[in-house]
Amino acid sequence: MPIRILQPQVANQIAAGEVIERPASVVKELIENSLDAGATEVRVEIREGGRRLVRVQDNGCGIAAAETELAFQRHATSKLQTLDDLQRLTTLGFRGEALASIAAVAQVTLVTRSRDEEVGTRLRFYTQCTFLSEARELAREPIGVPAGTTFVVEHLFANVPARLKFLKQAATETGHIQQIITRYALAFPERRFSLVCDGRLAFQSSGSGQLRDVVAKAYGLDMARQMLPIGDGVPADDSSVGNGDEDDAGAASATEPAPGGPIAVSGYAGTPSLHRSNRSYITLFVNRRWFQDTTLAYSVIQAYHTLLPAGRYPVALIFIELDPAALDVNVHPTKAEVRFQDSRAVFSAVQRAVRQALNRHAPIPHFTQAGAGDAGPAITTWQDMLAWSSRREALLGAGRSQPGRPPEPPPPGGDALAGPAMAPPAPPAGVPILRVVGQMGAIYIVAEGPDGMYLVDQHAAHERILYEQMLGQHAGQKLAIQPLLEPLVLDLSPEQAAAVAEDLDLLNAWGIAIEPFGSSSYLVRSIPAVLSRDDPHKALVEICDGLAQSVDVAESAHEARLVTAICKRAAIKGGQVLSLTEMQEMVRQLEASRSPRTCPHGRPTIIYMSTAELARQFGRT
Ligand code: ADP
Ligand code: MG
Repeated sequence: MPIRILQPQVANQIAAGEVIERPASVVKELIENSLDAGATEVRVEIREGGRRLVRVQDNGCGIAAAETELAFQRHATSKLQTLDDLQRLTTLGFRGEALASIAAVAQVTLVTRSRDEEVGTRLRFYTQCTFLSEARELAREPIGVPAGTTFVVEHLFANVPARLKFLKQAATETGHIQQIITRYALAFPERRFSLVCDGRLAFQSSGSGQLRDVVAKAYGLDMARQMLPIGDGVPADDSSVGNGDEDDAGAASATEPAPGGPIAVSGYAGTPSLHRSNRSYITLFVNRRWFQDTTLAYSVIQAYHTLLPAGRYPVALIFIELDPAALDVNVHPTKAEVRFQDSRAVFSAVQRAVRQALNRHAPIPHFTQAGAGDAGPAITTWQDMLAWSSRREALLGAGRSQPGRPPEPPPPGGDALAGPAMAPPAPPAGVPILRVVGQMGAIYIVAEGPDGMYLVDQHAAHERILYEQMLGQHAGQKLAIQPLLEPLVLDLSPEQAAAVAEDLDLLNAWGIAIEPFGSSSYLVRSIPAVLSRDDPHKALVEICDGLAQSVDVAESAHEARLVTAICKRAAIKGGQVLSLTEMQEMVRQLEASRSPRTCPHGRPTIIYMSTAELARQFGRT
């Protein structure tokens, strides 16, 4: 064939393929246009999963009669003129491709009236064309309508059989559309969105401006109840949480200074108990634009490190705000990906903000069903804290030393100043100070807290304590090591031996002084001190076996697994009878932990039953 320039309609159809993949893409583009037009209300209606019809109606600024046809030209946009404008972009659209693309693959009707004009316009494309012919007709007429814009898109891909074939069932396409609308509703809580599917109202947001309202609509109340706010409303000095968490230091506000300008992170993080089997529940927005980023999602997952069971993923809703100049949104036609000028700064800001939200708010799991109305530990003031602490000391008797985490003194200034102007300290986020009552089944420690009863899983709790102990010692380069009187020979399976060969440095770094000794044997000269009570040979074989089974995970996760395996091995087992002193010591150390409520594998270490709930159960109320 000779070389020819494609007919415009054919070129448009080909280009449209990049932007319009399925009905949800139409919805996305039209909603973005409505938002860019300043609409406070966006109504979406679909039939048959959007294939038969998509209608998007807004109360935005409308399109001037003289510009209605122009809007459908490729590269026609009112949002940008020069390349420099990309640096200051505040609109969702800028490529001027959406309307041209939609019109190339569907029948489109536009009804619009500009706020500045008396009469509106109705414009209709009759696209009879197949891929080869390009017969298009245009009908336009003046029409009396309220200011705003409505697009009706019908028979999507009727002229592109190849695309049509790939569309899924109506229910699946509806699901995609629902997801799109939910995202915009979350990003723009001050605007009202609704979705009607085949005549039935499927989603509606109130436009109240409260993100929490939309979260409840989007995720359901049950899930929304388990979401913790990130960033906002955080008092600058939050030392009451005070279990020595360096993550919190200097990150009291979620806004961080960075070379590319400040990075603000807000949103919601699911409690660790709200985990999912895949990472699709991590939703990311930057400057109110939804985007995908596996590395950033990973940094969110990392913030839950050791809090979630293995193979489970968190639920999170992350809003990042930064200078548009520090961001490139022009990476892909659908704008689903972005590039950060300083991605490291963004990643660490997000991770810190999530971690902080978790440390501050995560409640201890209750015995009771959700909805019982207990809000967790009831210590809300310094007075409560001090009163409880002295009562506890009295109960414990004078023989016991101060707990590891003594209550800090009340803020300076005295009672006279302690008016409403001084923010009350947040309730303790870790574990309250507990009085050990006894042991149950040689598995659980029963303890009394300021506001109810606590059951501690002795094995899980001890794992957590040892884990943090080892991390702390390792960070300070003073890991406690136990030299073996006689070097120990480990005869391993080829698989275990191969894994160990890969990890010699890692093992040595964590106190296992190990060197090759023949083909699949190793010589061990020292072990981490935490293992010294154990049979070192058994412990080492088990640990090497663990390494063999975690070869294909990321480096940091691999290291974490090694440490977790050591701690699991070293921790007191269920079934071991403990003395009161041992239990008190363990509870004291748990109180002082950074993440006291879960073991390193993500299982809870503690469950709690409030005084109110006990009274209710006994019919005392
Ligand atoms: P882009 O959004 O990238 O500018 P589009 O093809 O989506 O490109 O839209 C082209 C132009 O049509 C927009 O720049 C805008 O001026 C106008 N437009 C589209 N939809 C609307 C709307 N709902 N309300 C007002 N103007 C609109
Ligand atoms: Mg657009």
